[in-house]
Amino acid sequence: MVSYLFYYQLALCVLMWLFIMLHVTWSKPGLPTPPVPAQPKRPRSKAPKAFEGLTTKPHCALCERGTAPLTPPCPVPPDPMPPTHRRPRTVDTSRHFCPHTACDYRGWLGLNNLRANGHPSGGPWRQFHCTACDGYFPEHHGTIFHGKEAAVELMVRVLACLAEGLGIRATARVFEVDPNTVLHWLVEAAEQLRAFSAYFLCNLHLEQLQLDELYAVLRDLKAGEIKNDEAIRRLERSPYWVWTAMDPKSKLLVVVDVGCRTLAMAQRVVPQVTQVLAPGCVPLFLTDGLKDYGTALLTHFGHWMQPKRRQDKGPSPKPRWLPLPALLYAQVVKSYRRRRLVGGTHRVVFGTQLAIEQVLAACGWTINTAFVERLNLDIRQRVAAIGRRVNTLCQGEAGVRDQLALFHVYHNFVLSHASLRQPLLVPEATNGRGSAKVWRPCAPAMAVGLTDHAWTLKEVLFYRVPPWPQVQTV
Ligand SMILES: [Zn+2]
Repeated sequence: MVSYLFYYQLALCVLMWLFIMLHVTWSKPGLPTPPVPAQPKRPRSKAPKAFEGLTTKPHCALCERGTAPLTPPCPVPPDPMPPTHRRPRTVDTSRHFCPHTACDYRGWLGLNNLRANGHPSGGPWRQFHCTACDGYFPEHHGTIFHGKEAAVELMVRVLACLAEGLGIRATARVFEVDPNTVLHWLVEAAEQLRAFSAYFLCNLHLEQLQLDELYAVLRDLKAGEIKNDEAIRRLERSPYWVWTAMDPKSKLLVVVDVGCRTLAMAQRVVPQVTQVLAPGCVPLFLTDGLKDYGTALLTHFGHWMQPKRRQDKGPSPKPRWLPLPALLYAQVVKSYRRRRLVGGTHRVVFGTQLAIEQVLAACGWTINTAFVERLNLDIRQRVAAIGRRVNTLCQGEAGVRDQLALFHVYHNFVLSHASLRQPLLVPEATNGRGSAKVWRPCAPAMAVGLTDHAWTLKEVLFYRVPPWPQVQTV
């Protein structure tokens, strides 16, 4: 009798033979394939490719339309008037200028041509006399108070209320004034304040600028109860985006404008930034992921470069439009899921990461747009038409522009910023039993050296803006 162990061993041998045979037949194909030479793997560089430049300068409608300088050339100031032997005047006329168009001294400060008179007919306003043209003008000439019956305090309080973010109708109710009157005062003040900003914001030396744009909800969109992301999608091409450029160090709001979220608008904002900066000043730019900023910055901070020849023969390569070597620009690209921020990456567009980090390291920062986003909150709080979940919505572009002109000056010159406060050398005693004051409040305009004190809104509204920049007399 054969043991069943024998059958097991036999079955195992058969199986092994089968496996060996199968292996031999499969590994021997009809034609032997030549061994494939192992190709060296091309090392894939993770470093971003250097920007090679453009063969044509990007189109900018603003630059092409106005090749002449936007502001008319400044006239030559006349010589100061010789001092007289009359009794020295005590009234300060250094902030006043002659407004008469036929006068050579028109628009010039501090040329000793003004004499302060009394108050004609016992009125509230002092009269000035220009000794050059023998003309007279009141001290509030060219401000919103000129020709108004209303009390100065009332007008200042109404505008301060608007600057703090109360709507036009609410302000009208608080002061028991007609809403149309409030609107009228705002429109007039906005014109004066735009001139004020343009006069003071010039020749700035800034190291960094953060740019951003925020949307303003329109009345019809709000009425339809459209969700946030739907509104953003619709608003993408609508004119109601508020574009801002600010210096994160001094918190100075450099440019504020309203327009679509398009390349044309980016091309309108960036030249405004270049106009405000001192000649040759190229700050570090930080923005969100909108690619149009890159094109606009390249247009206005670029130059032509002739690339070197790579071959001896053939035509020489075309000149390339390249960013200025000093231009540093990085983007913070955020990713959202279900309207929630889920992550963000940094993208260096012009310059090197090291150079950008060196600029930011001086302040202890990394690449960010946090400061301009914080400013957006201020705008939403202080510009009633742009606030979220409010009933005061922008009726039109002009209305938003007027409110933003008020915010622009109020933020830069009036509001002091907690992070900018300066320690007082000698603590100032306060009234009563309160502790002494040890900090001096500082407004953004003070931090960049545009002014030496924080202004009050009344002071701003009383300021007669000269029609052209003044010659610095040291
Ligand atoms: Zn005059």
